[in-house]
Amino acid sequence: MAEYFHEMDDASKTGAKKIAWCTSVGPAELLRGMGFLVYFPENHGAMLGASRMATEMIPYANAEGYSPDICSYLTSDIGAFLQNKTPLQKGYGIGCVPKPDVLVYNTNQCRDVKDWFLWYSRRLKVPAIGVHTHRGIGDIKHYQIKDIARQIEELVPPLEAISGEAFDLDRFKAAVGLSKRTSQLWRECLETAAAIPSPWTFFDATVHMAPAVVARGTAACNDYYECLVAELKRRIENNAAAIEGEKHRIYWEGMPIWGKLRSLSELFAQLKTCVVASTYCNSWIFEQLDADNPFESMASAYTELFIVRDEAYKERYIEASRDLYRFDGILFHDAKTCPYNTNSRYGMPERLRRKLDIPILTIHGDLNDLRCYSEEQTKTNIEAFIEQMEE
Ligand code: SF4
Repeated sequence: MAEYFHEMDDASKTGAKKIAWCTSVGPAELLRGMGFLVYFPENHGAMLGASRMATEMIPYANAEGYSPDICSYLTSDIGAFLQNKTPLQKGYGIGCVPKPDVLVYNTNQCRDVKDWFLWYSRRLKVPAIGVHTHRGIGDIKHYQIKDIARQIEELVPPLEAISGEAFDLDRFKAAVGLSKRTSQLWRECLETAAAIPSPWTFFDATVHMAPAVVARGTAACNDYYECLVAELKRRIENNAAAIEGEKHRIYWEGMPIWGKLRSLSELFAQLKTCVVASTYCNSWIFEQLDADNPFESMASAYTELFIVRDEAYKERYIEASRDLYRFDGILFHDAKTCPYNTNSRYGMPERLRRKLDIPILTIHGDLNDLRCYSEEQTKTNIEAFIEQMEE
């Protein structure tokens, strides 16, 4: 991660390479395949959350007219920019985020990412271009994939104009191939949690997922996961449990609460409960990618995502996860500022409770805005939930 950020920081200062900002499930492979260094503001948002800087930064974006009810990645990131603050300083000695040459979004996850990039576009006078994806879909139709593939293809001419380099299909295919490999390895890592006891937890995965988000499509990223998967497999062979005396296994549905990773992981450890799987960490598996069919396969990979789909698809997905991970309870995180990654508001917990006959808890909080989270209340609710599972 340090190398990734320093390379970008150097390029930002020298102009040696063009820098594209990209949404977390945006067309990163195309950007990389066209020679851009790729920076992800959502990753910066997560760092603002994990370093507990976010809550203090949000009001500065609110003062610009961005509501406290919208994405707190957006508000904390814009607030931090306005205050000239970044967690990159403490983490890597880097004083500011890299300057973009272009901002590239995909609205597959939410509208907020586009609004976020448009703020920077106006502020920094940098072009923002993107893909507009169909949302809330069940079965995906071929015409939808064709449409998205075409939209991705249409990014090429403006990107060529910005990079000053001609599009090279082979380089693009190579990036897609490397990114597919990242996804395969990341899936393998996540699926080691199917072992009983699990060698790691959701909280570990929220940290180890960073390269899959920001460096997918690079050889260094794949080396990282080769190493990680081997270590996790060794842990299984040695019966090394993440939670000593693992008694319960839980599925986490929704966003992490970045500023509370430690306290929540310690709470679950005390309760001998392993959070074995999550929708969130699985969201960076793009195995549909195919170097021989790069545009269409990217369109499939970035449209077939959980967050893009309808309720029925999401329920089937969680049911299938249960077969694999053998969890005996589900925790829904209702994140105040992210309705898109919150699935507890339209009856899904009740339907799954009836269908799977397992206890389900909904906690209220937020990804970054800790004013929406009550530590005491959440602790009491989780303890009662585990008691219920014991009964
Ligand atoms: S999906 Fe949610 S957390 Fe992610 S950018 Fe959109 S609103 Fe923010």
